[in-house]
Order: sequence, then C-alpha cells, then structure tokens
Amino acid sequence: MRIESDLKLGFKDVMIRPKRSTLKSRKQVSLEREFKFLHSGQIWKGIPIIAANMDTVGTFEMAKALAEKKLFTAIHKHYELNEWESFFKETVNETSNFIAASIGTVQRDSEKLAAIVKLNPALKFICIDVANGYSEHFVEFVKKTREQYPDKVIIAGNVVTGEMVEELLLAGADIIKVGIGPGSVCTTRVKTGVGYPQLSAIIECADAAHGLGGQIISDGGCTTPGDIAKAFGAGADFVMIGGMLAGHTESGGELIEEDGKKYKQFYGMSSSTAMEKHFGGVAEYRASEGKTVKVPFKGDVEYTLQDILGGIRSTCTYVGAPRLKELTKRTTFIRVVEQENRVYNNK
Ligand code: 5GP
Repeated sequence: MRIESDLKLGFKDVMIRPKRSTLKSRKQVSLEREFKFLHSGQIWKGIPIIAANMDTVGTFEMAKALAEKKLFTAIHKHYELNEWESFFKETVNETSNFIAASIGTVQRDSEKLAAIVKLNPALKFICIDVANGYSEHFVEFVKKTREQYPDKVIIAGNVVTGEMVEELLLAGADIIKVGIGPGSVCTTRVKTGVGYPQLSAIIECADAAHGLGGQIISDGGCTTPGDIAKAFGAGADFVMIGGMLAGHTESGGELIEEDGKKYKQFYGMSSSTAMEKHFGGVAEYRASEGKTVKVPFKGDVEYTLQDILGGIRSTCTYVGAPRLKELTKRTTFIRVVEQENRVYNNK
C-alpha cells in the first residue's frame, strides 16, 4: 500500500481569478475551436461541448438540436440499425461532423459499428467507451479499431491518469475521455472507493495528451456553466455533459407527471434501470453503479445551451480570452472553501 499525499482538486475547490482585459463585450468571444487529430489527420471545427452517450442524453433528437449550434453529441450505443438508417436519411450530411457512434468492446459492438459506417461512410467519429479504461483488453480493442478505421477519429476512455492517456494515444486513439466517478448519476466512488477529483484529472491528463499531440474530453461532474468553464480552464479540449442536458424535450427517458408538475427520468448507464432496459437485469456478479432520478422538465434544450454558452463567454471576458482556445493560458485558479451564496436557493 502507498499513499500519495498531494491534495487532488475538484471543481468545487477552485474559482477562476479575474484578470485585466481589453475585451469590451462577451459578443467578441469566439467559442469555436479547430482541431487536427493525431492519427486520423481529420480536422474538426465547432464548439467543443459534447452531449454524453447516455440513452437519456445522447439521442438523435439531441444531436439534431446541438449540431445546429455546432455542438457535438456522442450517440448512445443502444439504437438499432434501422433507427440509425432513418436518422441518416432525415439529417443533413453536415450533422455527421457533430456526432460520434458509441460502442463497447465486445465482438457485437464491432459488428454493429461496421454496419453503421456502411450506412453512412461519412460518419467520422467513433467513441469506444468503457467504465474502466485500464484493462489490457481495452487497449487491444483500440489498436484493432485503429487498424480497421485509419481515417476515423477515435475517442477512447475512461481513464484519469497521464500514463494511461499516453498508452491509449499510442494505441491509436485521437482523443481520450477523462473521468472516473464524478458523474451526476454515478455511484462508482460509493460502490468501489475508486475515483479521482475531476479538476486534477483534467490538468494531469491534458498535460500528458498535449505532449503527444492528442486531445482530451473532460467527462462528468459539471453541474453549472461555471464548472464547464473551469474544465476548459484546466486544459480540457472538449467537455462532455450528461445531467445538465437531461430533462429536455430532446432528452430520452420517460416523461412523468406528478401533482401537475412534469419531470423526466434520468439514470446512469450502469444503473439497474439501464441494465434492466438493455440487458434484462443486473448480472449476478456485478453491482449497479448508477442512480435513477427524476429531473424537472426544462423544455427545449436551446435555452439551456444559451445559458451555458453565455456563461462561458462571460468567463472568457473576465480573464481576457478573446477565443476559447486562450482560456487555459489565461486561467489562474485560486483554491477556495466557498462557492456560491445559497441564502435564497430554497426560498
Ligand atoms: P454528468 O455530466 O451527468 O455529471 O456526467 C455524465 C457522465 O457520467 C457520463 O458521460 C459517463 O461518463 C458517466 N456515467 C453515466 N452513467 C453512469 C453510471 O451509471 N455509472 C457511472 N459510474 N458513471 C456514469
């Protein structure tokens, strides 16, 4: 046994220090970024915020709404082929630039991916997603997928430490997804004791990835636009959000009405709700590592997006970053033991 005594930080442990700036208005801030990816050589331009590949968030409806604003969606892995087919038929080709098809690492996943790519060869992004990206089998799967698809952008995760980011990039991934345990409907830290505070995970993993010419996605733990800004400030190239996009018209999950109020169901992809829905129950050898909750219905996602993008633009003006790309180098975090003033939050 060993103890690392360096304190690791989460979003709640810091704030961004304001800096003198020549920017007059948040209108002058551009949130678009352009990336050239390490192995695939593909170029992508857009706002690097991603809807999580959960069946309550990464839906085709969400993808259509987000792509219009140049945001990205990782489509969940439970759609049938015929549903993919109708999606491709009814959307413009441009949308393919703003979606990834998600898969796990079993044979069936590879076959399904091949069928989806056959339906639309213009699909550029593949998200190979497992809860624990530390297994040798996962690394082998990434290598095999890279050999099969030399020009697709491969996203792989999740991990939280620099050495594993490097290993996956060397295995052929372009972008590494970072986060174990911070998610809003995640119970991994409770069930297993394993995890890594997200802000430190981003700082350490971004450093490892950028050294090799790769990118990272910060995945999970953002509860406010301010948290997303902190993730970018810490060095994330992309930020993936689940809970913040739950409960909208475009979200999946059952609509529930109670005492005249509307809610939408939201659950983790390892929750018993998801496992019953997709696999007919929780396998005997495992525990559910996700929650099921109901969130107040929030209407169309467009208004939430405006709130998020407005918030991040404002962060950029506070620190004098005319482009999102410059936010990291303009960021100085201060460690804090307070966040918002909650005196009127429940009144
Ligand atoms: P959020 O933005 O809601 O805080 O986090 C979303 C992320 O939580 C997802 O992208 C995914 O990485 C993670 N997640 C989703 N479902 C589960 C689950 O059932 N268990 C765990 N451990 N993590 C989950």
